[in-house]
Amino acid sequence: MEIVHISAECYPVAKAGGLGDVVGALPKYQQQLGHLAKVVMPMYRSKYLYNHEWELVHESGTYLGNTWFRYAVIKEKTNELGFDLYLLDINGLLDREKVYGYDDDTERFTAFQIAVVHWLATWEHRPDVVHVHDHHTGLIPFMMKYCYAYQSLRSIKTVFTIHNGQYQGWMGWNKSHYLPSFDNWKSGMLEWKDSINALAAAVKCADKVTTVSQSYMEELRIQANGLEDLFEYEKGKCSGILNGIDTEVWDPETDPLLPYNYGIADVVEGKELNKKSVCQHFGLDADKPLFIFIGRLVGEKAAEILPSAIGEAAAEFNGALNFIVLGSGDPKLEYELQALQELIPNQMSCYIGYNEKLAHQLYAAADFLLMPSRVEPCGLNQMYALRYGTVPMVRNTGGLRDTVIDIGAPNFTGYGLVFEHPSVGDLKHAIHRAASWYFEKPDILLAARQKMMAIDNSWTKSAAAYIDLYKS
Ligand code: ADP
Repeated sequence: MEIVHISAECYPVAKAGGLGDVVGALPKYQQQLGHLAKVVMPMYRSKYLYNHEWELVHESGTYLGNTWFRYAVIKEKTNELGFDLYLLDINGLLDREKVYGYDDDTERFTAFQIAVVHWLATWEHRPDVVHVHDHHTGLIPFMMKYCYAYQSLRSIKTVFTIHNGQYQGWMGWNKSHYLPSFDNWKSGMLEWKDSINALAAAVKCADKVTTVSQSYMEELRIQANGLEDLFEYEKGKCSGILNGIDTEVWDPETDPLLPYNYGIADVVEGKELNKKSVCQHFGLDADKPLFIFIGRLVGEKAAEILPSAIGEAAAEFNGALNFIVLGSGDPKLEYELQALQELIPNQMSCYIGYNEKLAHQLYAAADFLLMPSRVEPCGLNQMYALRYGTVPMVRNTGGLRDTVIDIGAPNFTGYGLVFEHPSVGDLKHAIHRAASWYFEKPDILLAARQKMMAIDNSWTKSAAAYIDLYKS
């Protein structure tokens, strides 16, 4: 099968969160299953762009509304990622340093999608499946079906995967002229509650819709930032396929970003050495249990409860715990975390920003990972933590529910800590459970670590599930 993935992110080219990890890994595993997988993404000014060699494969021009723009498609020469990687360049629009966060993001991603469809229409053959990811590519199934210029793409099957349903790519009807001219009788396919909604359009127009865990699929019918009825109505074509992790990139035995590599057999010594190194860097005492949080500092991750939960837990344990927070987001929260660090520097540190290397080192060094998320479509952090022998402490929601079993589960099947509410009280209670486990039951902790590290969360299973879905 030939599959074309279209996405705003793909690790290691450009990543802002889990979407990048998935699009960087899934095609590689689909190739390993004997299929031809390609990725098309915008050409940002990323390090990856400048460190690799490219060949020009297509150059042309088309319209965003009344504005003519030129675009070029370049392909990475060596296929080092294990699949064909294409970057689409639109001068002045896409070639920027950040992936998102510009005032003209609507124009940037709409132009990107139009150019991709324009390019696809010039191919001499047709791929079997066009697989689009999140709202930045959500208008593509509509364009392939209902834009007059792209009727030749109509027969290609489309799959839409929702990595995050909170962001939907809303656009006022005053911008509908951006799109190539389309069958006006079908304008309802673009709409949700009086505006163009790229995510809703993709749910309506794609042949199949997936989310990144089964539980998240069910939750979207109850809570989907206004699209609940749509998910209920379209449930027949929707399914959940749990993400995997790239076990080649995320392997504590070979991870080149770690100062000390380790496996199941030497997990105690290996984690201790990594912890010493991290704690030394942050001025913390490596003899204390280390709790970490990694992620966007936003409401979805319930990050705003961290300062109170950490501050109170630190006081209740008289300084016997360590915390490190790595993330960025809400400026007020960033400030609160930095203030807490100044208040209790021997117990809490934070790194405000994005740092891939530090993230790897923290997963290896930590004893516990905090994930109180309000919404977690799949969540990758908990799976990385499992692989690195770090106990995930998660809220019972979405993909966290599907991947972490509480240590108290019957028949000793559990290995993590699960709690119900994204609240200071629940998180603190979980920290108390973790600390007593750390201090009083090191044998059980070790057994849980070994059990977690042996869990297979690789892409092999999920990549095959996507292939079955395409075939259906
Ligand atoms: P999201 O909702 O942000 O996509 P996921 O759990 O699906 O959440 O994926 C988060 C990914 O981003 C993980 O690979 C995590 O390690 C990484 N990550 C998040 N924030 C940071 C950060 N500040 N520095 C480094 N890596 C980060």
